[in-house]
Amino acid sequence: MSVLDTIKSLREELNQHNYNYYVLDNPTISDFEFDQKLKQLQDLEALHPEYFDENSPTQRVGGMITKNFETVKHEYRMYSLDNSYSTEDLQDWETRIQKVLGDVSLEYTCELKYDGASISISYEKGRLVRAVTRGDGFQGDDVTNNIKTIKAVPIHLKGDFPEKFDIRGEIILPFAGFEKMNQELIEIGETPYSNPRNTASGSLKLQDSAEVAKRPLDCLLYFVIGNNLPFKTQFEGLQKARDWGFKVPSQSKLAKNLNEVLEYINYWDKHRHDLPYETDGVVIKVNNLQHQEELGFTAKSPRWAMAYKFKAEQVTTKLNSISYQVGRTGAITPVANLEPVQLAGTIVKRASLHNADQIEKLDIRIGDEVFVEKGGEIIPKIIAVAKRGNQPEPTKYITHCPECETELVRNEGEANHFCPNFYGCPPQIIGRIQHFITRKAMDIDGLGGETVTLLYNAGLVSNYADLYELKKEQIIPLERMAEKSAENLIKGIEKSKSVPFERVLYALGIRYVGETVAKKLAKHYKSIDAIAQASIMDLILVDEIGDKIAQSVVQFFENQENIKIIERLKQYGVQLESGEEAALVSEKLKGKTFVVSGVFELFSRDELKKAIEDNGGKVGSSISSKTDYVIAGDNMGPSKLEKANQLKIPILTELIFKEMIAE
Ligand code: AMP
Ligand code: ZN
Repeated sequence: MSVLDTIKSLREELNQHNYNYYVLDNPTISDFEFDQKLKQLQDLEALHPEYFDENSPTQRVGGMITKNFETVKHEYRMYSLDNSYSTEDLQDWETRIQKVLGDVSLEYTCELKYDGASISISYEKGRLVRAVTRGDGFQGDDVTNNIKTIKAVPIHLKGDFPEKFDIRGEIILPFAGFEKMNQELIEIGETPYSNPRNTASGSLKLQDSAEVAKRPLDCLLYFVIGNNLPFKTQFEGLQKARDWGFKVPSQSKLAKNLNEVLEYINYWDKHRHDLPYETDGVVIKVNNLQHQEELGFTAKSPRWAMAYKFKAEQVTTKLNSISYQVGRTGAITPVANLEPVQLAGTIVKRASLHNADQIEKLDIRIGDEVFVEKGGEIIPKIIAVAKRGNQPEPTKYITHCPECETELVRNEGEANHFCPNFYGCPPQIIGRIQHFITRKAMDIDGLGGETVTLLYNAGLVSNYADLYELKKEQIIPLERMAEKSAENLIKGIEKSKSVPFERVLYALGIRYVGETVAKKLAKHYKSIDAIAQASIMDLILVDEIGDKIAQSVVQFFENQENIKIIERLKQYGVQLESGEEAALVSEKLKGKTFVVSGVFELFSRDELKKAIEDNGGKVGSSISSKTDYVIAGDNMGPSKLEKANQLKIPILTELIFKEMIAE
């Protein structure tokens, strides 16, 4: 088999596995095997840039940067839907239809109304050519690069597809993925996203498609549009789309009459909470396309389709009290404790109140009857006061930490209050140590979150450095501890001394320094001392480090307590420097400084930078007399180009660069 054949067959195979996994929900190989094959394909493609294909499964990881999303006119307008809220609304709708069509028998396709961001994707000759947001319905933004990273979206179609058509669907973020994203944000002290829908639609407009690729987005399709389509009804259209490789949810149903439509609605009103993603209603479409054509459109929506909106499930209950939780970073979150009540299939006892502004806005007081709703958010929320209790005064937000009594602060522009008592506030101390030992951080075997609380309460640890002074004899007397478990704990702590620097840096729990940021900082500075000495100006020059992170890092190292703890960690032998650098691939670029500018096809920007460093070169951030070469992609800024020309710096394409580092 020639190399090209191998590449092609790997691409085909990987496409099929993506389809099995993301569209059919039925993987046939392990993630590990998949990753290996993908790696093999990546390597082959890197060796043979002449076989580059923008539609290769390797391109799903993204890396294309879109600075400005181009506005594109929709070939077929993207209409809204009329809304209905009751059986009568639907009967009125049917009557209006019959006025136009006469006394024909009407069938309807019933579909769920997926709650996300709408998208229109164009295919030509079975290849994805463009994906455009809804915009104002007439024109939207070209988000093709981002959509291609969503693995449920086919890039190549299968079977007997029409030459050219558009397909419409909804980009959604399933609950599980949404929660995972939020968990990661909470871990680094960031504010979590408020709901899956906004997060999905925000994702479409991210500039870096590699960021989009990391988000667990999904795409559910519901409507094929074009000329001379090979089907006569909406329901057949859905089936065809499935055959071509699209993800069309199986819950869609053909209803023979309005009664069956109502049955469908009633069923899903009850069962929608069992779905893995958010739905806010049902969409009912006249099934026969001929009928659809006769019915046509109003100024805003098709006459042949109707959305039925579910009522957001709402109940009233009593607000018993408000408690205030203190997080690991000191952020205060107010929580409503409710009289337990049944809502959307679960018993609700608590609701999030977000922050002081929210409490003030709702003017909610202890003893009030309140409306509680479960919407796109996982945690129920309080919508409004239903009936005032006997509390004559507005709720006063706490001024002091409920755990340590320190006066709270609220920084300009931040929604939450903070307890500034970093080193004296028990939930902050315990939370930091708990973070320190987690799997992605120091991964200390034999030590769990509850044991940390026990150790703290017993006065044995008050910061993570104290862990390294623990003795077996001190641990054995603790609850649920014995000789063996104490030994394991000590061993686990000992073992953590070999955890690499980047993970130690993450474990320190510096606000906004998550796993990725810790890696970047560790790679750039190589030691804790270098990071501690960096100024805000230095830090923001590092790839992906912004103002907020830089400030937080500097603040952390200004605190003398932190410095003392780090000195102790050093003495115990914890890794606070990067180990030996991975051996260079070559020294071909030794002593040369490169500046990378523009958008690339063969490499992502990170890959380019890595390739430069792996071959002994340096990456500069701006063009100066010290620059030896500029690697220019598409859309390199004109001022940079001029500067490079002025200084007579050679400008390379990525292909030439690739040859430079090739054998
Ligand atoms: P609205 O934004 O309330 O006018 O509702 C119209 C939007 O519902 C459409 O633009 C689609 O994005 C979305 N939608 C979700 N599910 C469906 C579906 N099954 N059929 C048609 N539209 C849907
Ligand atoms: Zn406190």
